[in-house]
Amino acid sequence: NTFAEIDLGDALNENIKRCKYVKPTPVQRYAIPISLAGRDLMACAQTGSGKTAAFCFPIISGVFRHCGLNQRPPVRKSRMAYPIALILSPTRELSSQIHEEVKKFSYMTGIKVAVAYGGAPMYHQLRDLEKGVDILVATPGRLVDLIERARVSLQAIKYLALDEADRMLDMGFEPQIRKIVEQLGMPPPGMRQTMLFSATFPNEIQRLASDFLSNYIFLAV
Ligand code: AMP
Repeated sequence: NTFAEIDLGDALNENIKRCKYVKPTPVQRYAIPISLAGRDLMACAQTGSGKTAAFCFPIISGVFRHCGLNQRPPVRKSRMAYPIALILSPTRELSSQIHEEVKKFSYMTGIKVAVAYGGAPMYHQLRDLEKGVDILVATPGRLVDLIERARVSLQAIKYLALDEADRMLDMGFEPQIRKIVEQLGMPPPGMRQTMLFSATFPNEIQRLASDFLSNYIFLAV
């Protein structure tokens, strides 16, 4: 019933304590163990439910524990970024909120986090991407642009989260989202984990879930 009882790894558990999160919210209580067990997830959750941490904590934990950050060679500046985790969200505002949350809980882990959204100059985003990125938070349109400019490769993605998927479809992002998912590397089965979060669960979202998720658990809180 507390975060201390969930094994998210020492670094993240420490950050959770520092940020004074004690008790998981309902969506966190169910979604985090499902993700830590490696299962794909479709979750119906509203803003204010704590959904951001519900997908960010398993991603931070997984990136920290399984991706050998401690052993990696010093970064060379490279034009192409190869993130391990991708979080898609519909708007600039939501993307920057998620980015802040991921940065806060990645403190002292060595995880590199970057954000890319449209409606803002690309210069700063490109400069951050060149330093190397483990977790990328992005809006679909800007990400497609970066992929087409060969500044981001999705070949290394092991964790994919789509936040407010219903809103992304309402905004007309389905073609971009499908294009992005087509760009993901083809890992052996079970090696990539996908989480789909949506406030509503209409037919279009069910179709997205059956196209993008494998053997997933459905969670409604
Ligand atoms: P979200 O639904 O992800 O936008 O989160 C809503 C707000 O609740 C944010 O300000 C979070 O920082 C806060 N929050 C999320 N989970 C917890 C938690 N387990 N304990 C305390 N605050 C939380």
